[in-house]
Amino acid sequence: MSVRVRFAPSPTGPLHMGGVRTALYNHLLARKAGGTFILRIEDTDQTRYVPGAEEYIREALDWCGLSPDESPWKGGPHGPYRQSERKDLYSGYVDQLIEADKAYYAFDTPEELDAMRERLKAAGVAAPAYNAVTREHMRNSLSLPADEVKARLANGEPYVVRLKVPRHEEVRFEDRIRGWVVVQSSHIDDKVLFKSDGMPTYHLANIVDDHLMAITHVVRGEEWLPSAPLHVLLYQAFGWERPEFAHLPLILKPDGNGKLSKRDGDRLGFPVFPLDWTDPASGERSSGYRERGYYPEAFVNMLALLGWNPGTEQELFSLDELVDTFSLDRVNKSGARFDPEKTRWFNQQYLRQRPDAELGEALRGKLADRGIDVPAERAAKAANLLKERATFVNDMLEGMYLFTSGSPLTADHDPELRKRWSEEGGAVLDAFVEALPSVDPFTASGIETAFKSVMDRTGAKMGKVMPLYRLFVAGAMQGPGMFEVSELLGRDEVVLRLRAGLEHCRSWA
Ligand code: GLU
Repeated sequence: MSVRVRFAPSPTGPLHMGGVRTALYNHLLARKAGGTFILRIEDTDQTRYVPGAEEYIREALDWCGLSPDESPWKGGPHGPYRQSERKDLYSGYVDQLIEADKAYYAFDTPEELDAMRERLKAAGVAAPAYNAVTREHMRNSLSLPADEVKARLANGEPYVVRLKVPRHEEVRFEDRIRGWVVVQSSHIDDKVLFKSDGMPTYHLANIVDDHLMAITHVVRGEEWLPSAPLHVLLYQAFGWERPEFAHLPLILKPDGNGKLSKRDGDRLGFPVFPLDWTDPASGERSSGYRERGYYPEAFVNMLALLGWNPGTEQELFSLDELVDTFSLDRVNKSGARFDPEKTRWFNQQYLRQRPDAELGEALRGKLADRGIDVPAERAAKAANLLKERATFVNDMLEGMYLFTSGSPLTADHDPELRKRWSEEGGAVLDAFVEALPSVDPFTASGIETAFKSVMDRTGAKMGKVMPLYRLFVAGAMQGPGMFEVSELLGRDEVVLRLRAGLEHCRSWA
């Protein structure tokens, strides 16, 4: 039997990173088994439909490199893949359940349902429910005479169809991640499966579609675990073989205290969505990993390890390596704590692996936006120097001084300069300026040799000279090696900046 897995988001808003992780794990399972990864849009609840959400899901998965084999956009042998377009097929399955006495019509009004709950609460029932006990006292096809039921249906009275959950039965299934799950059916209420407006509820549509789409493994978030026993009952009611279940651990806040939410991201300054999103109703904007400058590979790598443990020390995995290594057996039961710092670390690792030419191009683009035109080769060399200290391409703009001309010093540098300046250090730099014209070729190693010989000659301490050299030429106390920086800037620029710095400091005297 070939593996068929699905990701079944509801288009109710932007995809949370937990949703992307679910899609990722499904994708990995399918690829590893040579199976099929299906995307199904679960849009039966029209009241929660959010325009743009489906496009967002598509774009987010594309960005992550997770492309379903069958989807609303690609089609496939089990389509349509949007539940709203499958609307007509669900009622036949509901009829099947009613005929088999596994489901029934219920005509209760919202007021009657409220009254039932009040009554039960008053009688001390902690969790009032429509179930095997209470259904007898409600208005449904099990309690009403058959004629009356017929008449109500013929009159077009609104109704719902509810699952007839058995009164005392042990519902059990083995979850691939959690092991055996056992629930008493008395704890499950007679869930609504279908409404007279012709729309199925999530539970019915989900089971019918998983069955029709020949899904072999249902891999989804822990928040669906409470629904699973009901789903097991539905498979039983239909007499269908059920897929295997695997409920993924929650993604927790960085402090481990509860489920990660959008608000945590806002509060602590990290995205929880893959892409930027603007809520169409409120206009509220949320930022995404893509727009913050993350590489999709880094985002996916981080997500893969959020709840799955490869069993080795390896942390960096390409998507192909994940396909080879991933298995449900190593997915943890307990919640996975999200670590924004670690996420940045992943990006840094991926950035460092990028070829200089590619980083140079990215940097060139950013510089062009600022009106600075740099030849490709020079940008690549600069990227090589700057990437060690960068987490994002944007961080390389710290090296802007490599592309401007003239002294980088501003009034802001004065406090630091005053701390570092000494006549002794200045004198060494005078000698260095004198030595630079004869450095040929003007390379990092040639510059270094010249610098060292001046240092030797004067016997000065590095700490007296290097900070001044840095500040004068690069305008910062930190950055790539000064000899490499100097090579890139070129002789004239270095001499000019050193002279300007020396003159500036001496002007205080
Ligand atoms: N439509 C559900 C969701 O939004 C799918 C749950 C499932 O995978 O069964 O997550």
